[in-house]
Amino acid sequence: MMDCDVLVVGAGPAGSGAARASALTGAKTLMVDKKKEIGTPVQCGEVIGLELVKRSGLRIPPQTICARQSFTRFVLGREIIVDNAEPYWHSVTVERKLFDKHLALRAALAGTAVQADTKLLSAKMRDGAITSCLLNHHGEEVEVEPKAVVAADGVHSTLAKVMGAEFFSPQDVARGVEFELVAKKNLPGCMQIFIEEEIGLGYGWIIPKGRRRANVGLGLVGVNASRRSFLEDWINGHPVVSQYFDVEKVLEVKMGDAPVPGFLGGPVKGNVLFCGDSAGQTLAFVGEGIMPSYICGGLAGKHAALMAQGEQQNYEEELVDAMGDQLVMGAVLRDTLVELWSSSVFDPKMRPLLSGAVMNELIGPDDMMQAVSSLDAEPLKAFQAMAKGSGRAIKARRCRNALHILRSDQ
Ligand SMILES: Cc1cc2nc3c(=O)[nH]c(=O)nc-3n(C[C@H](O)[C@H](O)[C@H](O)COP(=O)(O)OP(=O)(O)OC[C@H]3O[C@@H](n4cnc5c(N)ncnc54)[C@H](O)[C@@H]3O)c2cc1C
Repeated sequence: MMDCDVLVVGAGPAGSGAARASALTGAKTLMVDKKKEIGTPVQCGEVIGLELVKRSGLRIPPQTICARQSFTRFVLGREIIVDNAEPYWHSVTVERKLFDKHLALRAALAGTAVQADTKLLSAKMRDGAITSCLLNHHGEEVEVEPKAVVAADGVHSTLAKVMGAEFFSPQDVARGVEFELVAKKNLPGCMQIFIEEEIGLGYGWIIPKGRRRANVGLGLVGVNASRRSFLEDWINGHPVVSQYFDVEKVLEVKMGDAPVPGFLGGPVKGNVLFCGDSAGQTLAFVGEGIMPSYICGGLAGKHAALMAQGEQQNYEEELVDAMGDQLVMGAVLRDTLVELWSSSVFDPKMRPLLSGAVMNELIGPDDMMQAVSSLDAEPLKAFQAMAKGSGRAIKARRCRNALHILRSDQ
């Protein structure tokens, strides 16, 4: 039962994408996950950008979708609201418990053997390649001898440690915390991103899961405080967020880490192909990783199967063709944001506005200084001019106070 040519470790989006592709390429494939139930517990905002869904060719099953968003709202410095209705910022929110299980089902239907409650413990190596893996399968130790291994085991990858290949440092990992909350009143039909001095580099979010339910969370970079109390204080003290939510009706608490290292390509060590969070394959400026992991996982799985069949693998090159533009763009935006928040050149009050301009791709690293001088004069007008100049579907207006936002949404 546990015999295989390709062993896929981890049954998140990367692992299921990899296992399906490996099985379809003709390799005897086994996917294992240490979780008793694939998809649980959720450590995610559960939002998926539709542009990448198109690129993946995946049809998201309607039963996993709980909300659809036709634009994204940026609330900058609690002062300016930017609504971006471009296709890139259209999204759906999924129930990841259902979504991840659906992806694992697709992998199984393609011919993969799937084993939940099966943890990779250690591996034996020869000449830099894995010769056998020790698994704990429902409490019993089992040894398997795959020809190739896919490391889809997430941000704190065991396989990266086994192979002595830690691709990113702790500074490149954002700490996430989130509550699924019941809203006091109807939510607008958009995802909201909050960029402000109170959070620093990183951001807050409201991701609707229906009119009266949402994931409300924070991605923290360089903040060492307890994440849970930081989030509680943020929700209670925020002029916009507290109009919609308090922390009295918490349906779920979700915590996890997101790698945001920038572009690392498709790393391969010996006979191990790394994909998804284990390889830092997220859109680094926002930490979006579901679809990038699924797409990159598919490529890792295909090339692991080729390797197991004794053929030349070409993972890195195909990955650059398929996802290089998105991953590199994410890395450039991320680097620009890091510079913005770490350099003393920028007035702290200006940083949220400039971050909004960077994330909406209105300015790049080179024109940041010029933007600083024009934003200084009249931030909202300067922002509107940049948005208009871009000729894109971006609207900016002043958020005089939280009540103004609520009235305009109703
Ligand atoms: C708070 C937070 C919010 C986020 N919000 C979003 C969002 O809204 N949208 C988005 O696109 N991305 C979001 N992300 C990122 C996204 O969740 C990840 O990028 C994505 O899940 C990566 O998929 P993966 O398959 O690589 O890893 P994972 O989904 O982490 O899956 C790895 C799997 O490997 C298993 N595993 C680990 N070690 C072993 C072992 N030794 N043996 C067996 N199994 C093992 C784990 O149990 C796990 O199931 C968020 C991340 C965080 C932390």
